Amino acid sequence: MSPTDSFYNEDIDTIRQREYPMLKEATYLDHSGTTLYAKSLVESFATSMIDGLYGNPHSGSASSILSTKNIDNVRLRVLQFVKADPEEFDVVFTANATAAIKIVTEGFRSRDKGFSYLYHRDAHTSLIGVRESASRGHCFTSDEAVEHWIESGDEAREESGEMPTLFAYPAQSNMNGRRLPLTWPGQVRKTKSNTYTLLDVAAFVSSAKLDLSNLDEAPDFLSMSFYKIFGFPDLGALIVRKPAGHMLSQRKYFGGGTVDLVTCLKEQCYIPKKETIHQQLEDGTLPIHNILALNSAFDVHTRLYGSMDQISKHTSTLARNLYQGLSTLKHFNGQPVCIIYTDSPSSYGGKEQGPTVALNIKDSNGQWVDNSEIEKIASIRNIHLRIGGVCNSGGIAHYLDISPSEMRENLALGQRCGINSLGVGGKPTGIIRVSLGAMSNMTDVTTFIDFVSQFFVEEESQQVDDLDSEKVETPSLFVESLTVYPIKSCSGWPVPANTPWEIKKEGLSFDREWCLVHSGTGRILSQKRYPRMALLKPEIDLKQGMLRVRVKGEKSEEAPEQVSVPLDFRSADFKTPPSNSSGTAANITPYNSPQISDFFTSALGVPCNLARFPASAAGPSTRHSKPHLQKTQVPRKRPMEESIAPATVQTPFPTPPQSPTSSTSQSLLFSNESPILCTTRPSLDALNSELLARGKPPIHYSVFRSNIVIASSLTPTPAYLEDSWTHLEIGDSATPALFQMLGKCQRCSMVCVNQETGAKSEEPFVTLAKTRRFDNKVYFGEHMSLMWGSRDRVFVKIGDVVKASTC
Ligand SMILES: *Cc1c(COP(=O)(O)O)cnc(C)c1O
Repeated sequence: MSPTDSFYNEDIDTIRQREYPMLKEATYLDHSGTTLYAKSLVESFATSMIDGLYGNPHSGSASSILSTKNIDNVRLRVLQFVKADPEEFDVVFTANATAAIKIVTEGFRSRDKGFSYLYHRDAHTSLIGVRESASRGHCFTSDEAVEHWIESGDEAREESGEMPTLFAYPAQSNMNGRRLPLTWPGQVRKTKSNTYTLLDVAAFVSSAKLDLSNLDEAPDFLSMSFYKIFGFPDLGALIVRKPAGHMLSQRKYFGGGTVDLVTCLKEQCYIPKKETIHQQLEDGTLPIHNILALNSAFDVHTRLYGSMDQISKHTSTLARNLYQGLSTLKHFNGQPVCIIYTDSPSSYGGKEQGPTVALNIKDSNGQWVDNSEIEKIASIRNIHLRIGGVCNSGGIAHYLDISPSEMRENLALGQRCGINSLGVGGKPTGIIRVSLGAMSNMTDVTTFIDFVSQFFVEEESQQVDDLDSEKVETPSLFVESLTVYPIKSCSGWPVPANTPWEIKKEGLSFDREWCLVHSGTGRILSQKRYPRMALLKPEIDLKQGMLRVRVKGEKSEEAPEQVSVPLDFRSADFKTPPSNSSGTAANITPYNSPQISDFFTSALGVPCNLARFPASAAGPSTRHSKPHLQKTQVPRKRPMEESIAPATVQTPFPTPPQSPTSSTSQSLLFSNESPILCTTRPSLDALNSELLARGKPPIHYSVFRSNIVIASSLTPTPAYLEDSWTHLEIGDSATPALFQMLGKCQRCSMVCVNQETGAKSEEPFVTLAKTRRFDNKVYFGEHMSLMWGSRDRVFVKIGDVVKASTC
């Protein structure tokens, strides 16, 4: 691409300030998902709604006629936008591009002979789905395969006999932005009979000019979504080349608006509308207001950005900078950081390439970095990306070289569309997609490059040395604090001093025995989504046998100040759970009190209710899965079941049972059910010093939501000694309890929720991501569980002596 094509809209920062207040501090890089709407667009739309009296089209009133007239005008504007002659093309309004593709599918499917369907590897899922209605389907795995098929002329058609053929492909891949040849429809028309083309322009038109003025080259059908061009309205279109319209006319269904006459009493007949293609295919009332909004969208877009050509050049310039910036990042040992999925790097930003960069990241050892980790850090940095399979399974399989058997294996391992992590062989199952739009600016590009370079480019010294566990003297440790989290994801309740607290196999007594469930979905609420849960303060009153809950901060007039429920499972008033119910909420029981549900609903602003996990008799496995745990870890036999001594046996302190001794290799294996989370004061202090050194305020330890904080009476004590612990003995030597360390606790952005205010920031996760990353995961704290107690019930209190062993 020649430098003369370089163009950067210098007004973009002014436009951004004025028109996109929602962007604030955000770096929005998912324009292929949807682009953003301008403030003027929404205002102009609002004004036209307020000024006009618009009725339902299809009747004779002035308001109805006004709607019809405006809709006709917008229809014409759509055609003008893609330089299509209204004599030759028609526009069918749809909900989105997918609905447009479905109309074509329905038309072909309704034909007596069925149809043969050919599509390209780079197709979006919505285009692939057509094959299920076809009599025959075939996926071209390369452009050459398409060209070979085109050149073969009508020879290849013989197999399909009388059947029509539909050939579909995207003008631009929604995965990596690759643009495909627009010459194919013309060639197909020349060389093949009874063959039609469907061009999916949904990704293409948001940053390129589509030109249908050459009738011979134009596809028969085009699918698009307007929100991808303008951000608003939520509307799509099917553009039909009129000579191909008959292929859609035999569908079975008819709806309001598409017929001239229907009878249904003595005889049943109907006469479909014939006049125009759109009249035959637009069932029911059109999305009138969305269509009218499109008028404002065209106006504002032109006023802000001029032509699509300008947008194309602007976004290309940005994409080229992004590509160059990312492709030159290197680790200290020279290994590349970003693996970018593109066929023609040289054309980046040019005609063969839309403004999208699809990539994955490798560490300095050449291992893939888990995209879900990247997503976590990006979201804290307020960077909006699309991560995963991006609805393009052919593209993903091709560019990431994933075989169908690997895909099935990944599926069996629990990988699904949209879920991001590494699959079999440590290979990624999806990508990071960075896509730019008309309102993207150079700051967006540099922010993303800086983000990758800050967090994923390894400097030599950054490797954290493994602690040499044998040489470290175990300092005098003691229990500094104990915290119970009675309601999952809500505030913790500190166990008072001098109060021995019972520890069970499943954790501290009353820890996460309750939760909040959404009244609509029955899902358990978590602080990740509802940070205000941190403001709910439960309190355990053992004397009265009650759990009381208050809301910290502002009080509302009507809502009660607190609610309470009995600690004893048996004396509470529960809604009877429906028998045979399944799903998340199956084994939890909601309370049967409007007062309780009103209290939590008003506190969180979400319709919800308090519920209790089944009595611990049901065992730890049916109880909660704790919020700080990873779902993807490999479940294993729970250690307490294999090693806990019968509760009544009183024996001297035993030697630890046989178990893997290396804390690192054992890490996370069986923390699927981690009963207790432990952090240490020296590590908290080290993190705070790190934060201070970076000019950030220190954090309160409560963000880690640990149950036990262990401190040392010797100062200074090295931080992160817990990394090497394998067992802990807590209590005086006559009646100690033995705990097994289960591995490091992997962290997510939840540690950024201030547990006093419910406010979210980027620390301490950002600093942890730089200082406590192993295997590309961020760790702080250790999971542990009770293994054995020298008495039938185990109690721990603040000040208890702790002895740590490292083997
Ligand atoms: C976004 C997209 C679609 C689907 O659009 P919807 O609006 O979700 O129907 C189809 N194809 C491509 C290439 C896309 O980018």
